[in-house]
Amino acid sequence: MKNTGKRVDLIANRKPQSQKVLHKLREKLKKQHFIINDTNPDIVISIGGDGMLLSAFHKYENQLDKVRFVGVHTGHLGFYTDYRDFELDQLVANLQLDSGAKVSYPVLNVKVTLENGDVKTFRALNEASIRRSDRTMVADIIINHVPFERFRGDGVTVSTPTGSTAYNKSLGGAVLHPTIEALQLTEIASLNNRVYRTLGSSIIVPKKDKIELLPTRNDYHTLSVDNSTYSFRNIERIDYQIDHHKIHFLATPSHTSFWNRVKDAFIGEVDE
Ligand code: NAP
Ligand code: MN
Repeated sequence: MKNTGKRVDLIANRKPQSQKVLHKLREKLKKQHFIINDTNPDIVISIGGDGMLLSAFHKYENQLDKVRFVGVHTGHLGFYTDYRDFELDQLVANLQLDSGAKVSYPVLNVKVTLENGDVKTFRALNEASIRRSDRTMVADIIINHVPFERFRGDGVTVSTPTGSTAYNKSLGGAVLHPTIEALQLTEIASLNNRVYRTLGSSIIVPKKDKIELLPTRNDYHTLSVDNSTYSFRNIERIDYQIDHHKIHFLATPSHTSFWNRVKDAFIGEVDE
């Protein structure tokens, strides 16, 4: 096999089942002459759930062009996971036959500018949410240079297509097929009455459009990027765009279709 020398990193959560899969898979891969490498891999295998894949993504978010991801789900099927824990031999066989095929999905780029001039940028695979916990968040939302609305409420999320089935869906946002290159802006408990007005529904903006958010009240805001949370004081603005880099997944023959995953996760089998 030509795969001798292919570098693989394995990342697992602490669950006993995931640890078991980690050890088994590592041995199988070594036997087939893959190299275990946790700094500069060609392929990153996350073992656990979708949450674990988020962690794997963030570990390699600065090497997105060089890395392909593959997820092994311990438990039910997930959105970012292609293999179940009993399909390890299948996974190893596919890795041996692998010739570099990939499927790629958009990633969100978030730029936070503080009033003191500091700039922080983040990449999100699922979404970024901004909120204020103590008082109502008030912010002007500008979409592709159009001053769109003054938002009042708990906060807003901006999600990627693959993140649309996560927090975004809980907030009533639409589920988007991940081949659609777009971002979705969704409200979190907006205040709507005779004085305050927002659109109310979520908005899906195309790749070329920018979303800007300008808080009108300074002080502390909470920014969550996937599974990490940050607190910022005196944010001047937040800019959201589709990132220049995409996330690449190993294209596998057994890839489950997106609509099957949505059905499996949220609907299941319905009795006639
Ligand atoms: P968590 O709170 O432990 O789990 C969140 C749940 O969301 C898990 O069941 C996870 O699946 C699932 N999930 C993650 N990404 C998904 C996706 N793209 N589509 C469908 N389901 C998805 O936190 P975590 O595991 O670290 O994940 C962080 C994510 O939690 C955030 O990105 C946000 O989307 C989500 N979240 C949701 C809510 C809400 O719905 N009210 C609130 C806060 C955060 P697994 O079990 O396979 O890991
Ligand atoms: Mn989780």
